[in-house]
Amino acid sequence: MSQATKRLHCAHCHYPLGQCVCHLIQKVTGDVVVWVIQDKHEAKHAKNSARLFALCYANTRIVNFSDAEQMSFFFSMVNLDNTLLLYPSEQAVALEALQQPEASAIKHLVLLDGTWPKAKKMLLVDERLTQFRVGKFAHAPSSHYEIRKSPNSEALSTLEAAVYALECLGDLQIFKIRHFFSSAIALQWSKQPEEHKHRS
Ligand SMILES: [Zn+2]
Repeated sequence: MSQATKRLHCAHCHYPLGQCVCHLIQKVTGDVVVWVIQDKHEAKHAKNSARLFALCYANTRIVNFSDAEQMSFFFSMVNLDNTLLLYPSEQAVALEALQQPEASAIKHLVLLDGTWPKAKKMLLVDERLTQFRVGKFAHAPSSHYEIRKSPNSEALSTLEAAVYALECLGDLQIFKIRHFFSSAIALQWSKQPEEHKHRS
């Protein structure tokens, strides 16, 4: 493959053409709007999992944390009584324990995309984020996101966190995105040069 060909990316999934995952996409519809508030470094990450999630789940809104206008729009669209922020604070309720009709009353799920220290910083920088009801996982599934090496294997990718959270809220179809994710990862692995495959 020439250098020029290597740089061509799919206009839809943004992966290099040889690694396009579009044929694997599983479209899932849902009522809950998933807001991903993204740190500017995370947004630049080529393998950002929020973007993969958005390919499958149309009701995804990615917001750039550094963009005041996008943040104002986000706050204008959500209400304190129908929004849940995913963040593992002490006051957070376990999503697995939410009962109906409480679970179905949640119409907006907010995820802070980036490492936990960055998410914590977002909460300190923009206090409006601290007004929301907070939810966390009591039994988070183990992460399958192996392309992007994380120092903490307990860390869930944004995609996995969004899928699991929607499952806790009662979305029965959302598991399809997990299939997409597994096949997209398998495809990425098969296209990776050997020297990038070292793993512990
Ligand atoms: Zn593609």
